[in-house]
Order: sequence, then structure tokens, then C-alpha cells
Amino acid sequence: MTMIHVIKGDITRLTDVDAIVNAANSSLLGGGGVDGAVHRAAGPGLLEECRALHGCPAGEARVTGGYRLPGRYIIHTVGPVWRGGEKKEAEVLAACYRNSLEAAAGKRVTSIAFPAISTGIYGYPKKEAATVAVHTVRSYLEEHPGRIEKVVFVLFDDESLQIYKELMKKRGTV
Ligand code: ADP
Repeated sequence: MTMIHVIKGDITRLTDVDAIVNAANSSLLGGGGVDGAVHRAAGPGLLEECRALHGCPAGEARVTGGYRLPGRYIIHTVGPVWRGGEKKEAEVLAACYRNSLEAAAGKRVTSIAFPAISTGIYGYPKKEAATVAVHTVRSYLEEHPGRIEKVVFVLFDDESLQIYKELMKKRGTV
């Protein structure tokens, strides 16, 4: 049985997860939003490891060490830029969540925290993105029982927090 938690806060401050997911850009060389916060908190060693990865396409995920963060790993995934919804944005966003969980499982990670990928600079509507996130993570956990013990959705603003809380109540419908 996997516990899914929804909290408000700064994902870089979590102390009780093996891995956090970073909403990176395809260069993997840092940026604004959560990406900037992750690089600042992790320190320069992270940028050095990221340089050697030579980028990451949207929908895929790459794993690095956690450096100064409490967790052992950072899973960098590149969300889709919102272009109106007809450019496979939902598929790419779902792939981000699935591939991040696969990457985590490959490292024997049992607890993982996600930010609301693509809902900042990349402009994905918050509610639509949350539906994809919750649905994809639940499906993955059902398909792969026993791999992950805890998933934390970390939201940065009250609106996102409320959207996730509502979705978590509607078991079986998303
Ligand atoms: P993207 O480029 O994928 O849209 P952003 O970092 O701009 O990525 O935003 C993704 C989400 O992460 C937004 O909802 C934003 O409010 C949120 N966010 C920004 N900083 C943090 C943080 N330190 N911890 C958790 N979430 C954050």
C-alpha cells in the first residue's frame, strides 16, 4: 500500500523522501522556478553532474545525486510547454510522471516527492496538470505494487493545493 500525501511547501526542504523530482528544462543546466531552487539548494556539484548528461528531451527523466539536499537522488524531468492542449501536452506530462517513477524504482527509491510539473513557466493549466499527475501516479502505483511506499505532491501555492486535495478525495474517478 502506497501513501500519497499532498502538502504545501518548498520541495527542496523535504527531509523525509529518498528522491525529489525537479521540473527541469531540456538543457538540464538550471533555470527559474523549482529548477532554480533545486540547484541553489543542492549546490554546484549538481550542475557539474548535469553538464555530463547532455540534456534531456521532454517527457523523459534523468537521475543525479542529491548533493546538499537531504534526499539521495534528484530526478530531473522535462515537462511539456503548454501550447493550447492539442500538441500532446497531456501525453508528455504523463510520461514525465511515469518515467520519473520508473527512474526512481531503478534506484530502489521507496519515497519520492513531485512538484506540479509544467504549471509555472511552462504555462500548463493547473487543474488539467493536476488531473494528469494524480491519475498517472495512481495508475503506476496500481500497476507496480510494492515498489514505492510514499509519494508526496508538493504544491507551492494555495490554488494548486486545493486542486490536489479535491482530486485526492475523488478516489476512483481520476
Ligand atoms: P515549469 O517550467 O515546469 O513550469 P516551474 O518551476 O516554473 O516549472 O513551475 C512548476 C511548479 O513548481 C509551479 O507550480 C511553481 O509554483 C512550483 N514551484 C516553484 N518553486 C517551487 C519549490 N521550491 N518547491 C515546490 N514547487 C515549486
